[in-house]
Amino acid sequence: MDIQTNLRNVLAELPDGVRLVAVSKFHPAEAIREAYEAGQRIFGESKEQELAEKQKTLPNDIEWHFIGHLQTNKVKYIAPYIALIQAVDSYKLLAEINKQAAKYNRVIPCLLEIHIAREESKYGFTPQACREMLEAGEWKKLDHVRIAGVMGMATNTDDEEQIAHEFHTLKDLFDEWKQAFFAEEPTFKEVSMGMSHDYEIALRNGTTLVRVGTKIFGERVY
Ligand SMILES: *Cc1c(COP(=O)(O)O)cnc(C)c1O
Repeated sequence: MDIQTNLRNVLAELPDGVRLVAVSKFHPAEAIREAYEAGQRIFGESKEQELAEKQKTLPNDIEWHFIGHLQTNKVKYIAPYIALIQAVDSYKLLAEINKQAAKYNRVIPCLLEIHIAREESKYGFTPQACREMLEAGEWKKLDHVRIAGVMGMATNTDDEEQIAHEFHTLKDLFDEWKQAFFAEEPTFKEVSMGMSHDYEIALRNGTTLVRVGTKIFGERVY
């Protein structure tokens, strides 16, 4: 099946209020253009250099989301144009994004990546570390970033109950922090969870942004 058909099939499953990030990492610009021509505007990339090359050649109304682990020394390259940085996992990174965004007079929306999976290797704040960062309140002085919600990745498993449990945990944290720290901020609204193999579970657990790659573009060749 082709990219446009795959895209429409995924979109048909999404209820109102859930948006699709088409994860185009490791796929060529032509693949993105195909999805673009079918109306898709939000694309997710995980490598700064690969993104920079695509961004230069593709239409300006694409909303680029950075979904990978971002090193602080790479922030400056994406700060001029990035629409959402999805995987902020330290205060240090948030502060650096703020500093670079200021240079372009921008406010960059960011999601806090929370470690919800059983696996050791994934990035992200622990829930406790994130709560402490929010309580400390230093982030409130960062005028050039806007914390727009949370992001997480479930354990890579066939155990659907485990995945549902992890997504549920992330949604609960979102609700807790919404009430405690962002009650007056309608822009704190995103719960980014769900990938090709588990976005249907995410849909039942309160996701607002699903990040789907393989199911649209096919297997990645690394
Ligand atoms: C690669 C990636 C995805 C997409 O994964 P698929 O299984 O191809 O849908 C989603 N989220 C993140 C953070 C990723 O790195």
